[in-house]
Amino acid sequence: MDDENRKNSSSGGVFGLIAQEFILNGGIIYGAIYDDTFKVKHKKIDSIEKLPLLKTSKYSQSNCHDIYSSVKKDLSNNKKVLFSGTPCQVAAIKKYCKGFSNLYTIDFICHSVPSPILFDKYICSLEKKYKSKIINFNFRDKCSGWENKKFSVTARFKNNQVYEALALKDPFFRSFVFGVICRCSCESCHFKSDQKASDITIADFWGIWDYLPEISSDLGVSLIMQNNNRGAEMLKMISNKSFIKEVDYEEMHKFNPAIDDCFIPIHNQKRKIKKLLECNIENYIDELNKSTNFSIIDRLMIKYESLKNKKGCR
Ligand SMILES: Cc1cc2nc3c(=O)[nH]c(=O)nc-3n(C[C@H](O)[C@H](O)[C@H](O)COP(=O)(O)OP(=O)(O)OC[C@H]3O[C@@H](n4cnc5c(N)ncnc54)[C@H](O)[C@@H]3O)c2cc1C
Ligand code: SF4
Repeated sequence: MDDENRKNSSSGGVFGLIAQEFILNGGIIYGAIYDDTFKVKHKKIDSIEKLPLLKTSKYSQSNCHDIYSSVKKDLSNNKKVLFSGTPCQVAAIKKYCKGFSNLYTIDFICHSVPSPILFDKYICSLEKKYKSKIINFNFRDKCSGWENKKFSVTARFKNNQVYEALALKDPFFRSFVFGVICRCSCESCHFKSDQKASDITIADFWGIWDYLPEISSDLGVSLIMQNNNRGAEMLKMISNKSFIKEVDYEEMHKFNPAIDDCFIPIHNQKRKIKKLLECNIENYIDELNKSTNFSIIDRLMIKYESLKNKKGCR
């Protein structure tokens, strides 16, 4: 797998590789981007130059306004379309565009999505703190690597300042991982592994550093689930550009329970989100974090600090 693509993607870059093959063969991609004001929305891309816009995970529900009808139009015009999104978005597009053999779909193991209003508040709070507009935002910056979940959240501002925090220490990401700011609807998700509508499901191969230590993983490794024959066709498209190894379902489940399990809310989600909408997001996240058991995060942090010292990085 091309190192540059891996570095610029959330996990092992399998989405980028498949999307590139589609575009080179005249296909169209639909996926999630940040717009100019860092709202997350789905967009149609048909050139390699614009592909980076779709890369990396955006932890906010993407807006699919007008997207489903646009996909149907392209399919009716016999275009080959690759749609990528959350499992519920993929289930929706498959239902809306039933019967089209030129529709290909990718979803991911989905922990949940935070509310777009909360993400917007977070962006505004950073801009207020740094007294400048954000020009680039990344939840999955691999400047410090990917193994042991040591990627960073980074924001670059117009006035040249940079915010960089280990993701598990960033208040928004930390609250997302622990279900503090997740949408109520994700508490009972109907799109877990045995209800998948997609051709391929992708994810981070967490724990590969212990499970297959012989594989170099600090640039990120993807987990891929082939859900049907069309999925097999898509994997074949990238087989000569990647190293693919079969693993036990049980092994990957051990490291990524979100395959089958919904997140467990630690607070009354509806009451909490109502309160969040009314107040300063950072203060509220801090308040929630204080009442959360972060012992797992703290153990990871100790491991990260010792690795960082060993490597002599920042
Ligand atoms: C909200 C969310 C929750 C996730 N939960 C888990 C999890 O619990 N476990 C796990 O292993 N992996 C999870 N992932 C997936 C993982 O982070 C990687 O996105 C995935 O492994 C693909 O990585 P990649 O390197 O192949 O490609 P990347 O280039 O990182 O892939 C980006 C792809 O994700 C899509 N995407 C990004 N943000 C959104 C969004 N908000 N809504 C819809 N589509 C989006 C883009 O359209 C693009 O196709 C989650 C991703 C998101 C966005
Ligand atoms: S957890 Fe389920 S309901 Fe929530 S965004 Fe993901 S697929 Fe959709």
